[in-house]
Amino acid sequence: MAKKIIIIGGSAAGPKAAARARRLDQQAEITLIQRGPDLSMASCGYPYYVGGVFDDRRMLLSTPTGVVRDPKFFMNAKGITALTGTEATAVDRKRRVVSCRNLADGSVSELPYDKIILATGATPKMPPVPGRDLEGITTLQSMKDADYLRKIRDERVIQKAVIIGGGLIGIETCEALELAGIEITVIEALPQLLTFLDPQLAKIVENHVRGRKANVITGNALAEFLGRDGKLTGVKLANGTELPCELAVVAVGVKPDAALAAAAGLAVGETGGIAVDEFLRTSDPDIYAAGDCIETVNRITGKKAHAPYGDLANLQGRVAGENAVCGDTVRFPGTIQTGICKVFEFGAGITGLSETAARAAGFNDIETAVIAGPDKPGFMNGKLLITKMTVNRADGRLLGLQCVGAGDVGRQIASGALAVMGKLAVTDLVNADLPYAPPYSLAIDNFIAAAHVMENKLKGRMKGIGAAEVKSLAEKKNGVFLLDVRGPDEYEAMRLGIGEVLIPLGALRQRVGELPADKGATIICFCKISLRGWEAAAFLAGRGYTDVRVMEGGIAAWPYPREK
Ligand SMILES: Cc1cc2nc3c(=O)[nH]c(=O)nc-3n(C[C@H](O)[C@H](O)[C@H](O)COP(=O)(O)OP(=O)(O)OC[C@H]3O[C@@H](n4cnc5c(N)ncnc54)[C@H](O)[C@@H]3O)c2cc1C
Repeated sequence: MAKKIIIIGGSAAGPKAAARARRLDQQAEITLIQRGPDLSMASCGYPYYVGGVFDDRRMLLSTPTGVVRDPKFFMNAKGITALTGTEATAVDRKRRVVSCRNLADGSVSELPYDKIILATGATPKMPPVPGRDLEGITTLQSMKDADYLRKIRDERVIQKAVIIGGGLIGIETCEALELAGIEITVIEALPQLLTFLDPQLAKIVENHVRGRKANVITGNALAEFLGRDGKLTGVKLANGTELPCELAVVAVGVKPDAALAAAAGLAVGETGGIAVDEFLRTSDPDIYAAGDCIETVNRITGKKAHAPYGDLANLQGRVAGENAVCGDTVRFPGTIQTGICKVFEFGAGITGLSETAARAAGFNDIETAVIAGPDKPGFMNGKLLITKMTVNRADGRLLGLQCVGAGDVGRQIASGALAVMGKLAVTDLVNADLPYAPPYSLAIDNFIAAAHVMENKLKGRMKGIGAAEVKSLAEKKNGVFLLDVRGPDEYEAMRLGIGEVLIPLGALRQRVGELPADKGATIICFCKISLRGWEAAAFLAGRGYTDVRVMEGGIAAWPYPREK
């Protein structure tokens, strides 16, 4: 007899599960239940629709060939019954039925099932502050939200907006609204934007956002929405600051929507997501779950994780769809929390653990390397990238890679993700065979160059020092010698202004006498990206200096104000 498969949730994980189940079982009766009017919404595209990158909202709902994924499409192309405007209100596991309510006419019905796949997604969090019901406050989580913000963009009546939350969605929304000519302030309660990044890289991104005339306030939480006549007029922050605005977009994260599962008596995990095993089975083996509603596992730390990403939702949907019709044959191994976002002309991405996350997870003996460099040769208009690698010192295993900048961040993060998943070590990475031609990369890609720097550090051939430590040493004025080895023109055009001495690399051999006579003195070498800084450090070590360090990533990775 044909299996009855019911899939609840029709955005990313649900339709993917339905399509996979259909491809592997042509007889199954597959029903997709979706609360809203649309199916297969490309939520990740909302900021670009809002920002005017494209105008036709149907593109968010279409196949790559432009066919709208509506119930007719699901029936005709896939033989899947898609019930839109329908809410699954309860799962009766004894009677094996799903109760549904038609939201247009209020009618209720029951659908029998053999297997269920829950793909109910996540809901945006809302800070519990006064005034949150005022008109002018929104999230960007649904097509309705996207339509609302797009209308605001098109009407161009709003002057000032605040974004509450400096994470991926907050920053993408910031860009979208700034493109609409709206004056934006991003408010982040924590001390930095994009908290998945280490502070240095996050600060570099923040500098870029500020350069685009968006105001950024970090370390200050929203305390209250202010309003008049039911409409938003401003926000008040924890330190008392009031900012006038007509629009507030709240992007402080999402929580898994596990209510239906919990009401059905299914286990919910410590992160609030539906508990599943590696086959994506819930605590009831006839009910699977996939996407933002589940709790998964971090493959590096082994800890439970909520990973609300569109790629994972699709991958998990595929696994759940297959297992629902074929028995439990395929596994979902967990996440390494790979993510990327566009920040105006920059990309910002991570795979695996940042240094902060690695330490928090109990990796106590780690090494990091920061490098800066163009993504392609200068003659191909290469654009700068700042890359940070984190490894476990004992075995050199790559724990994580972060990258920010105007160059091709995605390529670096994709390389890093496979290496993290494959548990590769620096010894593997230093000779990685990646694709190279000038339009695509440098002969030695940044990812590999970071591994080279890491190898030098692990073998004790190079002593690195981070920008934060250099700043702190310079402020203490405790006798470190800061050696900028760039050319005079570069120095004239831009410099740190922290007491550094300029001796161009080409002149160092002649002017070595200008360095401290004490061979034990701390000398910190740098240039724009610290490649010449490394040459200088090697030369000085050869001259008997015993504490020569290279400022990693050079001036390009300096996140603090410069003199010029
Ligand atoms: C603005 C934005 C930008 C993003 N950008 C990226 C990105 O660049 N990269 C990335 O990897 N991820 C991104 N994401 C995250 C990504 O969109 C989500 O991870 C993905 O949509 C999750 O898919 P899902 O199917 O699990 O859940 P959802 O997309 O949340 O869909 C769940 C659906 O189930 C429906 N539903 C819930 N309960 C019921 C019920 N009881 N009955 C019927 N229907 C129900 C909901 O109405 C909803 O439509 C972004 C998200 C947003 C909002």
